[in-house]
Amino acid sequence: MMFNIPYDRSIRITSAKKHRPGAKNKKRYFIVHDTASSASTINNAKFLAYNQSSWASAHILVGPDHIWELASDDTVTHHAGKGYFDGRRDDMNRFAIGMEVHSNDANKPWFTYYQLERGTKIIVEKMRLYEIPGNQVIRHSDYSSTGKTDIRDSYFKPQFKSWKEYQDYLQRVAHGGGNFDKVEARRKKEEKKPDPKPVKPQPQKIDHTAETVLIEKYKKQVTDITKDRDHRKAEAEKWKKKAETKTPEKLPYPVVELGKTGGVVLKSS
Ligand SMILES: [Zn+2]
Repeated sequence: MMFNIPYDRSIRITSAKKHRPGAKNKKRYFIVHDTASSASTINNAKFLAYNQSSWASAHILVGPDHIWELASDDTVTHHAGKGYFDGRRDDMNRFAIGMEVHSNDANKPWFTYYQLERGTKIIVEKMRLYEIPGNQVIRHSDYSSTGKTDIRDSYFKPQFKSWKEYQDYLQRVAHGGGNFDKVEARRKKEEKKPDPKPVKPQPQKIDHTAETVLIEKYKKQVTDITKDRDHRKAEAEKWKKKAETKTPEKLPYPVVELGKTGGVVLKSS
């Protein structure tokens, strides 16, 4: 299912922008950033797409109420920089889609609900399209070796307690639960070139206790209702039978036969 994200494609990375033309993005990871910029979102979009003195670029920019797609997913953009994650060192740009989420306060970043809601839909859509497991959706800070701190917690809080919880949620929504390795295995099978560095997926455990308790409770309720119904039906049957087989009540005294009452003669009329 696609979410119909309202991408604004009026600002696109130009060929003059340093974006390694020719290389194709392998789209195995999704990295989330925040801009920590006091500039307006549209100026951020223009900077990421057009500024020729800066390498910085990204695929998507999510503003407080507007979304730009600055480059196709196949483009290699420059958002990850140097770092290490999952066996990859300093080459993440060729393997990851980069999404910037606009935040205008470097110290106390705040985001709108629109940014979390649309950002999540964008991530889920890309996870489905490219078979990206939830644990390969990471913050810039999970990879960066140059001290990047984005994306900050206020992007996903208070809806999610931790990034891990957000990843689990993404995994469930995008791939219907299951664990990360299944998705990764399926993707690997389809990829022609095997990855020289095997990734170590973390198995995911979903706690079904609450659901199980509820299911058991409902099962018991159904059993109880059925039992009660059967019992009442049996009772009704019993009473019906009783009524049908009921013998006429006897009079409290014997029937007196005419003429045989020892002196008292009753006349028939
Ligand atoms: Zn970043």
